Amino acid sequence: MKELKYLNKYLKKYWLKLFVGIIITIIARIFSLVMPSYVNKSIKAVEDFLSGTISKPEAKDVLLEYILIIVGAALLSALFTFLMRQTIINVSRYIEYDLKNEVFDHYQFLNLNFYKRNRIGDLMNRISEDVGQVRMYAGPAIMYGIQTLTLFVCLIPLMFIKAPTIAMYTLIPLPILSVLIYQISKIIHKRSTKVQEYLSTLSTFTQESFSGVSVIKAYGLEPQINAELKGLAIEGKDTSMSLAKVNAWFFPLMILLIGISNIFVIYIGGKQYLAGEIESIGIIAEFILYVNMLTWPVAVVGWLTSIVQRAEASQKRINEFLKEQPTIKNEIEKLTPLKGKIEFKNVSFKYEDTEITALKNVSFTIEAGESVAFLGKTGSGKSTILDLVSRLYDVTSGEILIDDVPITQLNLNSLRSAIGAVPQDAFLFSDTIENNIRFGKENADKNEIVAVAKKAVVHENIMGFTKQYETILGERGITLSGGQKQRVSIARALLKDPEIYLFDDCLSAVDTETEEEILTNLKNASSDKTTLIVSHRVSSAKNTDKIIVLESGSILQEGTHDELNNSEGYYKELFLDQLSDKD
Ligand code: ADP
Ligand code: MG
Repeated sequence: MKELKYLNKYLKKYWLKLFVGIIITIIARIFSLVMPSYVNKSIKAVEDFLSGTISKPEAKDVLLEYILIIVGAALLSALFTFLMRQTIINVSRYIEYDLKNEVFDHYQFLNLNFYKRNRIGDLMNRISEDVGQVRMYAGPAIMYGIQTLTLFVCLIPLMFIKAPTIAMYTLIPLPILSVLIYQISKIIHKRSTKVQEYLSTLSTFTQESFSGVSVIKAYGLEPQINAELKGLAIEGKDTSMSLAKVNAWFFPLMILLIGISNIFVIYIGGKQYLAGEIESIGIIAEFILYVNMLTWPVAVVGWLTSIVQRAEASQKRINEFLKEQPTIKNEIEKLTPLKGKIEFKNVSFKYEDTEITALKNVSFTIEAGESVAFLGKTGSGKSTILDLVSRLYDVTSGEILIDDVPITQLNLNSLRSAIGAVPQDAFLFSDTIENNIRFGKENADKNEIVAVAKKAVVHENIMGFTKQYETILGERGITLSGGQKQRVSIARALLKDPEIYLFDDCLSAVDTETEEEILTNLKNASSDKTTLIVSHRVSSAKNTDKIIVLESGSILQEGTHDELNNSEGYYKELFLDQLSDKD
């Protein structure tokens, strides 16, 4: 129960509702106790009539009264049972809501490293499956727990007072039932987890084969995929069958043990009646009803134990994750508007997970308003430099200064709001084009959006879609071409109008003429902004103030286009190469 203590703060938050719920639960159970004793009394009244102790009209009157009492108590019990669910189960939904929000908020704060360490599926599970298991503890477990406790406390003494011998024999099979249900619940849980795992494998497999359908068809892989699916299907059948086998035990076992209890009641009760030890046969009917009332709560004891264990395990996973602290902390309170000077001093950087040293002793200065192009082969560290400027990672050694202040001494929100980044693999949300651009500035109006789309030379394309700016992107909508995607992301960054632009190879899928046009627009839009532009084309670099050529994480060449073009080296080779490509 150690891990579940974490939920106490929520239980405290909703204590009043819970308290009322508990009172209602107790009331509901007490009303349900009325019926069996009145059934007994009714049978007694019939017996009295048969033996001539009371007259027919008297018996009728008494029976009518008892029936009304039974119906009334049943209605009240039903009403309170309804209210009980309305309070306690609702509380568990509130707690689920709060916990989901807490987990999601925490997700947003964690760094990229965390996301590389954990699989998306696991993260999703934590917020849906695990929180769901915990809810079972906060709601149903508490509700049925109280219900069972009330019933035990009221009913068992009552049974012993009424007929101690029958009570003793009746109760013997019930603990066995609890233990068996607990064991079965455990096995059921184990096997249903297997089924769950299987289902997620299956959905990953089908999803991949549907999204990759063009590749599968082009390579004629249909028979192979079919065979793989057949294998998966057999596995699915086996896991589901093994679950169905234990599930099948659940109710028969319950009915068997209740049956045994009932036989005891009838056998022992009958013997006692014949020996004249109990006055009415009605007590046997009363006890049969008690046994039935106790069955579910007794089964619940076993079921609850396994629910609490599961909730404990889930909460443990949630707690472990909530303890996880972002390595990049936003410790500086003061917000500072930035101008955009960027300085790298002997910066080295190693990716923790792959142990790859992406940058080695890199130093350069970019004045506010300057534009710099980063060139170099794939894997030379260009993207890493841009990620470090956004402080998606912290440097391993050396220092980055923005406006002459160490980047770690800046408020993270100040820094990131001063940056408009277009990453290499532009990500667009499954939303309208308009909203995707608006991501750069929440309160932008349509005119501003159209203006930046024009600058990014994507306006014409957008107007070509039937729904224009309202076109939905992604799975259910239109798929943009690589170049269109890049240009929508550029429009998004332009809309933000930041101090620092980070363009990571974002014109790679655009033809040279469009590239030229966009670059001219960018130059006009960002002439007073610091611009870092990564490219593998000389054409993007030619008009920048400075060019930095990287190789294996170190600076190979640095200078203006003219300087580099007049000396031998990578840049000149690239320039000549691409010049001849054009012809
Ligand atoms: P470029 O953008 O110039 O192609 P990158 O900066 O992306 O180069 O990568 C530099 C090196 O760091 C490469 O060797 C790459 O494999 C490695 N790398 C890049 N991103 C990651 C990452 N997120 N995790 C681990 N290694 C990475
Ligand atoms: Mg890159």
